[in-house]
Amino acid sequence: MGKATGFLEYERKDGEVVKPSVRTQNFLEFHKSLSYKEQQLQGARCMACGIPFCQAGAMLAGMASGCPLHNLVPETNDLVYKGKWEQAYKRLSTTHPLPEFTSRVCPALCENACTCGLNEAPVSTKENEKAIVEYAYENGLVKPDVPAVRTGKKIAIIGSGPSGLSAAIMLNKRGHEVTVYERSDRAGGLLRYGIPNMKLDKRVIDRRIKIMEESGIKFVYNVNVGKDITGEELLKEYDRVLICTGASNPRDIKAPGRDAKGIMFAVDFLKEVTKTLIDGGYDSEALISRNTFSFGTVKGKHVYVIGGGDTGNDCVGTCMRLGAASVKQIEMMPKPPVERALNNPWPEWPKILKTDYGQEEVIDKFGEDPRIYTTTVKEFIKDKNGKLKAIKIVKLKSEKDEKTGRMNMVPIEGTEEEVKADIVLIAAGFLGSEEYVRNTFKVECNERTNIKTAEGFYKTSEDRVFAAGDARRGQSLVVWAIAEGRRAAGEIDYSLMGYTNL
Ligand SMILES: Cc1cc2nc3c(=O)[nH]c(=O)nc-3n(C[C@H](O)[C@H](O)[C@H](O)COP(=O)(O)OP(=O)(O)OC[C@H]3O[C@@H](n4cnc5c(N)ncnc54)[C@H](O)[C@@H]3O)c2cc1C
Ligand code: SF4
Repeated sequence: MGKATGFLEYERKDGEVVKPSVRTQNFLEFHKSLSYKEQQLQGARCMACGIPFCQAGAMLAGMASGCPLHNLVPETNDLVYKGKWEQAYKRLSTTHPLPEFTSRVCPALCENACTCGLNEAPVSTKENEKAIVEYAYENGLVKPDVPAVRTGKKIAIIGSGPSGLSAAIMLNKRGHEVTVYERSDRAGGLLRYGIPNMKLDKRVIDRRIKIMEESGIKFVYNVNVGKDITGEELLKEYDRVLICTGASNPRDIKAPGRDAKGIMFAVDFLKEVTKTLIDGGYDSEALISRNTFSFGTVKGKHVYVIGGGDTGNDCVGTCMRLGAASVKQIEMMPKPPVERALNNPWPEWPKILKTDYGQEEVIDKFGEDPRIYTTTVKEFIKDKNGKLKAIKIVKLKSEKDEKTGRMNMVPIEGTEEEVKADIVLIAAGFLGSEEYVRNTFKVECNERTNIKTAEGFYKTSEDRVFAAGDARRGQSLVVWAIAEGRRAAGEIDYSLMGYTNL
């Protein structure tokens, strides 16, 4: 509960954020931490409200309110306030196997449901979480967890994103022998090759993978399950398989000229930039000055990002670091309200305008918000060499479909405009799990092509095959992936042992 009067005595204070003009000179994390002493006062602001929606993770109006992992937020805040960092880490670890990731990239569903946040700044639970886990690493509390007894059961996890890592930790802790198969060259999934380094330094992932390996978890890289090895072969070798392959099927923009050179899917772009950074020993200044990728250079180019969401914002921030001449972001939907609408009350997730780091950087450099709302691309225009030189954009309006009764965004005739564009990055969302992965395990999918399980369960239509994370729930959040991995581990353990304590 923190200090009963703490919220009256102490204002919210966040760690320093490096200013846009400085942070865009490199790819380093730019959210600094408070000192541990200062952080204790932030723990003190937790007010013993008695209704901790922050840890409920309840679904309200179709969206989660509070932490999906059910982190014991008031308890850990109290331990932070009292400076009992080791106990705080133990408490956090009871619900959360990977806090170093969420404390950097989570949109903090807990804080949006915090009672203190009803009429003033919420408790800084996310930064408290970061202080706890970083204290734990600094003080040798995050140790390999080698089980005293092995069960003799073998489990294959396909995919090393946050859901796969979370499940691997839990199942290994229980004594099962866990092997993680990853088609990429390094572990982490979208933590590694989606979320850019300035939001999550990739050495934070390496630090965790080392501990996982020392705990007995095996990682097999560069193996594409469904292509290099079949589901049948894996099911012969393993007692259970958990599919954690994500929802990496990008939604395309089907407009004339789509084959122009200079158009790329957002995650392919972000992956190439991050891989170049890691392969170059994290020398971000060398990356910025070299600035050569398979699609050419970003320096001096006019970039349009299609999609106004978080992935689009990560592309904006990356292009700002790579010296783009201009960066714009096209969004189909209207601009959200600045404050909560009456039909979106606390503690529901607030559907309000959020200006993220990349957008802030554009505003700082070019003086205006990069987002262009209620707009889409009608045509990609090529030069005589097939290179993108411009795009035709068109305004949209909301119109009711008489047949379905649904509201659709439709083009407004006569609003077309041609604008100069050298690079287009498509960040228009994802379409679900990949077909070859579903086929190799013969698992059913739902109408959104997510792998089908009963609601609240993780077993697929196939015996001994389970699914978790984005592959099961569709493109979501790191905190949900970790929560799903943990719960799926419990279900797998139960199916093997007849009971579970996970
Ligand atoms: C650009 C971007 C930025 C994001 N930023 C945030 C953020 O700031 N905060 C947040 O909470 N969420 C964010 N998200 C969402 C978040 O990253 C995902 O919800 C989360 O990573 C899903 O975890 P996962 O383990 O289910 O799948 P993934 O992270 O997608 O991992 C799946 C893994 O499976 C591997 N794989 C796939 N198929 C095979 C196969 N056949 N054989 C072997 N391996 C395979 C892939 O290579 C990958 O490593 C972001 C997403 C994107 C795209
Ligand atoms: S994981 Fe996210 S929602 Fe849960 S307590 Fe941490 S920051 Fe909050």
